[in-house]
Amino acid sequence: MEATCERAATLRLPSVAFTEHADLTPWVVRAGDPMSDVLRRWLRPDGRIAPRDLDVEGYLDCVQRCRERFPGLRVLTGVELSEPHWHPESTAALLSGGRFERVLGSVHSVGGRDEPRLVDHAMRVRPADVVVRDYLAEAGRMAASDAPFEVLAHIDYPVRHWPADGQPFRPGDFSGEFREVLTALAASGRALEINTKVPLALELVRWWADAGGAAVSFGSDAHRPRDLANGFAAAAEMALSCGFRPGDDPVELWRQPHRTRPGGA
Ligand SMILES: [Zn+2]
Repeated sequence: MEATCERAATLRLPSVAFTEHADLTPWVVRAGDPMSDVLRRWLRPDGRIAPRDLDVEGYLDCVQRCRERFPGLRVLTGVELSEPHWHPESTAALLSGGRFERVLGSVHSVGGRDEPRLVDHAMRVRPADVVVRDYLAEAGRMAASDAPFEVLAHIDYPVRHWPADGQPFRPGDFSGEFREVLTALAASGRALEINTKVPLALELVRWWADAGGAAVSFGSDAHRPRDLANGFAAAAEMALSCGFRPGDDPVELWRQPHRTRPGGA
């Protein structure tokens, strides 16, 4: 985190948010699933992968160190909740005390609550388009839920695992499914993240504006300091072209000037 702040200072970013993972869903693994060293370490005797609980105190201590070392940088706390609509109790416990300033909700699983599979594992045994539809249906359920998150992260997450040897991924093939998620998200008053890892396709941001989406955030999903703010210039241009505008404060979400604030009246 300190190296990421150093990178932020080099890039002259005014602010950075560390939305640390809270992976609340224990995934089902099957024989033949590829297992990284990290996944293997988290494998439970019942055949599920359960990431370690977020060390909240350690995380907040580190944020504090970053703030002291980089007083010119606005360092926001944050958390990325994995399928929070399946885990209302652990989500409430984690957020009690209000120590996270930016709360993302994300889906990393398909197959539903009882048989949650990692998207990349599911893609190996089921057609990619079926997995994408399954993913978007779950994202829609999360968007329509009252789970306490402010921003929907990486709506295009399965594209990261889209097979390289077939047809390229085309957002238009799933426009109905994407629009359903975006409509539910807009109705909830939440914001859409423009995640630059893939990066997010322009159509998605356009459909978000069409759906009445009021705000966007920017996320580089940087798990390494050197990836911080990757693709942000293009993402900002895309947001501007769809009518979103920055606020006076750099930590604010970018909004449609004529629309109400998410969560507001
Ligand atoms: Zn994620």
